[in-house]
Amino acid sequence: MTTFSDLNLHKQVMKAVTEQGYDTPTPIQAQAIPLLLEDRDLLGIAQTGTGKTAAFALPTLDYMLEHPQGREFKSTRVLVLAPTRELASQIAESFQTYSKYMDCVTQTVFGGVKINKQIRALQKGTHVLVATPGRLLDLAQQGAVTLSEVEILILDEADQMLDMGFIHDLKKIIAMVPEERQTLLFSATMPKSISDLAQQFLRDPVKVSVAPESTTAERVNQGVIHVAGPDKLKLLKDVINAHDIDRALVFTRTKHGADKVVRKLGSGGIEAKAIHGNKSQPQREKALEAFKNGTCSVLVATDIAARGIDIDGVSHVINFEMPNVPEQYVHRIGRTARAGRAGLALSFVAEDELYYLRDIEKTIRMRVDVLPVPEDSEVAALPTPDPNVRPLKPKGPSGRSGRNSDQRRGRGRPQSQRGGSGQRRKSNRSGQRRKAKPAQSS
Ligand code: AMP
Repeated sequence: MTTFSDLNLHKQVMKAVTEQGYDTPTPIQAQAIPLLLEDRDLLGIAQTGTGKTAAFALPTLDYMLEHPQGREFKSTRVLVLAPTRELASQIAESFQTYSKYMDCVTQTVFGGVKINKQIRALQKGTHVLVATPGRLLDLAQQGAVTLSEVEILILDEADQMLDMGFIHDLKKIIAMVPEERQTLLFSATMPKSISDLAQQFLRDPVKVSVAPESTTAERVNQGVIHVAGPDKLKLLKDVINAHDIDRALVFTRTKHGADKVVRKLGSGGIEAKAIHGNKSQPQREKALEAFKNGTCSVLVATDIAARGIDIDGVSHVINFEMPNVPEQYVHRIGRTARAGRAGLALSFVAEDELYYLRDIEKTIRMRVDVLPVPEDSEVAALPTPDPNVRPLKPKGPSGRSGRNSDQRRGRGRPQSQRGGSGQRRKSNRSGQRRKAKPAQSS
């Protein structure tokens, strides 16, 4: 088995890794780090919870130790793009943790907060910039940041960025980054749109894929309660009261639904907070902090808001409403059972959601056990449906597009001008950085 010392990382990086208590690299780290240290481009199929952040952060920091350089005016050496502010903050935190023993400045920019502070912060330049695409493009177009010195470009959760409609922003940003660079693209799933993106922007990439989604699902205890839609709120209160819950993450399909659940739980004496796209950044941070420090043990979230959030000790994931895309289910339940811990994922399935449950079971290649309602609950569970009868696919706008109102927000962003492409290239361990294919401006 590969150990961290086999990876030959600089001792400053190793010290930070050891301090985190990591003994052995996770599979994505063991596979990706040696290749990234050789400056290869990489297409990584991995979801959150696999240790992918360290898989790209550690070799990136190692590269900077190998080629130390001060910050340059409004520039960055490493650019990481992520779909949501939460994920961007989390990635930046990881970079800060792992670069504790070296000279490395990491900054984060995302929308929903005032831009002026970010403009000022970027003036002196940074080593690592973690950004959501929309805000980064705004900043670049205002001349607050120049991307012409980027040596390593990392696209994280690329499938999610495409789902959120960021493709045009991404292409414009990539067009501003030098062609000669190392490019890493991580995605939880591999639809054709991602292979097209990889084809266009990666140079002879190595492909690393870990933990097929069904494997993650196998580690989580899962159960389903068949229940009528109108009884779900009552059932949720009963489940929360009956279970020994440290932290429960409750998923709804819509922002409105999340707020409603929080209100109803509150009126039943259960304190919960919501996190979704209509919440301001300070509200989201406050909710997350309360959930992390244990002052609020129930967080109600939409898929987009929750994606990529790394919170330890989530004991329960409750699917108050079923996702209509099986992969989303796997992402949701992956919030629990992090780093090998056990967790329970409980799904409330109404009659019109049965189709989605069967679709999920097909994807994870297992049947989810049917559980009874808690002992003291007055809610009557629906009879267990015959698994051999294929339910009808629900009609209407909530079909199989998989988008909710949070996801649609990214659409319709203004088009931008193509930025200048940089000229100067840094050399790498083995000589010059290889040339990536020219980026297409859209
Ligand atoms: P990620 O997939 O990057 O969101 O990481 C998921 C979690 O695994 C984070 O809490 C990391 O701190 C943790 N982690 C990352 N690498 C390791 C490792 N080698 N050993 C133990 N935990 C790790």
